[in-house]
Amino acid sequence: MHLVIVGGVAAGAKAAARARRFNQAIGITLYQEEAEISYTACGQPYYLSGLVPTRDALIIRNPAEFAAEGITVRVRHCVTDLNTRDRVLEVEDLGPDRRRVEQGGCAGDTGNAAVPDRRRHDGPSRD
Ligand SMILES: Cc1cc2nc3c(=O)[nH]c(=O)nc-3n(C[C@H](O)[C@H](O)[C@H](O)COP(=O)(O)OP(=O)(O)OC[C@H]3O[C@@H](n4cnc5c(N)ncnc54)[C@H](O)[C@@H]3O)c2cc1C
Repeated sequence: MHLVIVGGVAAGAKAAARARRFNQAIGITLYQEEAEISYTACGQPYYLSGLVPTRDALIIRNPAEFAAEGITVRVRHCVTDLNTRDRVLEVEDLGPDRRRVEQGGCAGDTGNAAVPDRRRHDGPSRD
């Protein structure tokens, strides 16, 4: 069994950590389109105001810490399609190569529209 988690801030990082606590045997991969995972969005105003001195102080856990628990974290990877029937995932590597990566046999059904069509997404920039 392989659990794939889309998004790696509060909910995604928590889901990965909890899943590992419950089951030591499964593979877990977390995809996060941003460069960082597990950061406190709530702390951002305090960073901007200077009360939190460094940007790094907002980050709770990094990919290496997850790797130590056998959780693979792929930052700068956007999940662009999720076919739960065939358990196939389409992932775009947002790194310099802009590769498209496809991974099969690993999707769990969230029962929700967890992966909006990012190609048509026109929301505010997170930069
Ligand atoms: C300025 C600010 C202050 C806040 N203050 C508080 C507070 O005081 N108290 C409180 O309870 N809450 C607060 N919040 C809200 C809290 O931070 C959020 O509820 C929390 O971050 C939600 O976490 P999440 O993991 O569900 O979603 P998000 O934080 O939105 O994380 C989801 C991640 O998934 C990534 N992602 C989405 N789709 C894909 C995809 N297809 N492929 C790859 N990656 C994807 C996104 O880029 C994002 O990084 C605050 C938020 C902000 C911005």
